[in-house]
Amino acid sequence: MKIKSRRGDRCYWKCSTRNCPATVNTHNNIPTKVDANHNHPSDRMQLRVDDVLQRMKSRCKDELTAIPTIYEEELVKLRDREWNDDTHQLVEHIPTFYSCKDQLYNERHKLIPALPTTVEDITVDGEWAQTTTGQPFLLADDNTNGRMLVFSTQENLYHLAAADTIYCDGTFYVCPTLFYQLYTFHAKVDGTMFPLVYCFLPGKDQQIITWIYLDSLDLISIVLLQHNPT
Ligand SMILES: [Zn+2]
Repeated sequence: MKIKSRRGDRCYWKCSTRNCPATVNTHNNIPTKVDANHNHPSDRMQLRVDDVLQRMKSRCKDELTAIPTIYEEELVKLRDREWNDDTHQLVEHIPTFYSCKDQLYNERHKLIPALPTTVEDITVDGEWAQTTTGQPFLLADDNTNGRMLVFSTQENLYHLAAADTIYCDGTFYVCPTLFYQLYTFHAKVDGTMFPLVYCFLPGKDQQIITWIYLDSLDLISIVLLQHNPT
């Protein structure tokens, strides 16, 4: 609050936020009239709102979860807490997704490069060629018959090599638009089916699939030799 006017021992205070109608009158520093109808959140509330936004921003940087989902999930977490006037107010003061989405997307783009627009623009190197635990993940990056990327880990290949049946299938719906299909190799590990190799393919050409299959078999035989030296 700041002093608006003074008359003898009486003071007339107004909120220090511009255009806020909240006022307090005091007599010898004792409040005589309090009109606390602030048109903005309190500083304390603002700190808590900032705290929630900060949490959303960190998640945008640390995870690949869709940004609208992160926003929703953080709001739900607030609603899941004990519901009282305090939490109610906090939720009311969180900016709408529309008004904070730019900040959130900026945060994500600090660490994640913009999506490539052509297959030639795709660069898979450094941490992008590794799993989250730092294992090599990019198995093949080939451009002989169009760009083709194959991802798997050494451990996945061991499992593939150990399996007596390998299931292969192409899917078109979840495939990034720059590729024609996502072709996966599945096998059972301890009785549960797992996807073990992911291939982004430029076409539906049988040859591509065969090439990958042969190449993978080649890798499997190498892995088998390492795994089971007889
Ligand atoms: Zn105010």
